[in-house]
Amino acid sequence: MIISIASGKGGTGKTTVAVNLALSLSNIQLLDCDVEEPNAHIFLKPEIGDVKSADVLMPVVNNDLCDYCGKCASECEYNAIVVLPTQVMVFPELCHGCGLCRMVCPRDAISEMPREIGVIKRGRSGNNVELVYGLLNIGEVMATSLIDQVKEHVDSGKTVIIDAPPGTACPVIAAVSGSDYCILVTEPTPFGLYDLKLIVEVLKVLKIPSGVVINKAGIGDKNVYNYCEEEAIPILLEIPYDKKIAEYYSKGLPFVNVIPTWKTQFTGMIDEIGGKL
Ligand code: SF4
Ligand code: SF4
Repeated sequence: MIISIASGKGGTGKTTVAVNLALSLSNIQLLDCDVEEPNAHIFLKPEIGDVKSADVLMPVVNNDLCDYCGKCASECEYNAIVVLPTQVMVFPELCHGCGLCRMVCPRDAISEMPREIGVIKRGRSGNNVELVYGLLNIGEVMATSLIDQVKEHVDSGKTVIIDAPPGTACPVIAAVSGSDYCILVTEPTPFGLYDLKLIVEVLKVLKIPSGVVINKAGIGDKNVYNYCEEEAIPILLEIPYDKKIAEYYSKGLPFVNVIPTWKTQFTGMIDEIGGKL
């Protein structure tokens, strides 16, 4: 089973749910796809066994072969290559490394070379959780490529948890695509509800079933609950607004390790999801 954890809004407790869920189950792989700011490792404190560069392939133009016909530039969806009368310019920040320009070039004038966009780290936390996470280079915008490369490490022999980036843009779609189920973490506030509605609409398009975990339950109002009822979205779990849980979080301690009864709640949630699937 591949279960992604997403939230339309940052700061709702997505990583808290991902980490505590991972620590409650056995034979788990956690992929932290929040590559701009991965933080599952802060809580899991893994022993990192492998670090490798994550690259995208950039076009390189051979001016001896190019006749400046402009076909590469007209086909590029991202305006990442521009053809001038006697020069071809590539803008690495815009290039998605899709290889289309190389394929369409009638004179075989384009080759490719790797450009590092970040790193992928792999490690183990205790005996139970394998953690894989991407770390995007500062100033780099190619989050989706790095997320795709993190997801290449999916181990189909394990229950896989994907910690998706916040929001509803391309990186989230890259992270949650292919999941069997998506757990949406929200808080019962107007902001939480607004962003929950956005991510629910995204998941409808992607046809991924979903359920909601309400974090900081007890604050705010009932509007999130009413919305879930109207949309027939199950509420899988409520994590109360609790000073102790906040303290453990601030110390980098997953609360299931301190309050083990919560493990039963998380395993129960996975059983419920398994039953739905
Ligand atoms: S398509 Fe090839 S030959 Fe034409 S401008 Fe681009 S690199 Fe040059
Ligand atoms: S590799 Fe793709 S994105 Fe990059 S310049 Fe070529 S066509 Fe554009």
